[in-house]
Amino acid sequence: MKKKLQYGLFFVAIFFFFSCNNSKIDEKLNHQVNHELNKDCGEVHWTYNEDEHGPTNWKNLCDGFSACGEKSQSPINIITNEGIVDSNLLALEINYISTPVNIVNNGHTIQFNVSGNNTISISDKDYKLLQFHFHAKSEHTMNGNHYPIEVHFVNQYSSSDYSVIGVMFEEGEINELLTEFLPIFPESKGEYNSEKIIDLKKLFPNNLSYYNYNGSLTTPPCSEVVNWIVLKNTIEASNEQIEKFSKILNGNYRPIMPLNERKILMFNE
Ligand SMILES: [Zn+2]
Repeated sequence: MKKKLQYGLFFVAIFFFFSCNNSKIDEKLNHQVNHELNKDCGEVHWTYNEDEHGPTNWKNLCDGFSACGEKSQSPINIITNEGIVDSNLLALEINYISTPVNIVNNGHTIQFNVSGNNTISISDKDYKLLQFHFHAKSEHTMNGNHYPIEVHFVNQYSSSDYSVIGVMFEEGEINELLTEFLPIFPESKGEYNSEKIIDLKKLFPNNLSYYNYNGSLTTPPCSEVVNWIVLKNTIEASNEQIEKFSKILNGNYRPIMPLNERKILMFNE
């Protein structure tokens, strides 16, 4: 009887030994598979909500999103009297020409894809405009305050060197460009091909004084590859336009990220 019990215990121990080991192997395999899958984050679902898909958890949604948890992230709060005037900075040169656009609602923003040779010149480097898109409320804040809308012009020099210009909307006069395009914005995920030629100058103030700092894309993968140019001066849109546009954009702004060791430079025209 005693012997039987001993044998019994022995087999139970063997069983547990192998089953534990098996689950460890499974875990390892699973991790490897996930790792493989997570290299391509294109289909990963992320939102601006306060849930597991929201901004505080972007960094955990996919290996390729890990930069979202790094130290030089955007947007930031700009404390306007702490900007440092830097004599090395040059006037912003915007060489945007009138261009046909393809308007996309990609589920995160309204984006205008542009073709043609639209460039900006910063520190003797020419960056090419790829697209511009909108956030409501603004992503950057000034002294803790949001503007109702911020437009981002995404310009590329190389795959690891971008410059994004942020322009704030303020409530005021009717904005001609919005008058033209608001009625045709795709309100849900979709595309609209416009034959209209767009005059990008209508989205810039006359005075191009700016704040400058190093940061990131404000959406996953949050890559820290952006030389940010945030204009000091605003453009205007009517209250009605802002309300209608904000409804479509549906709260697509990332919360403010810490400045950490970074400095905010300033160029005054
Ligand atoms: Zn943006």
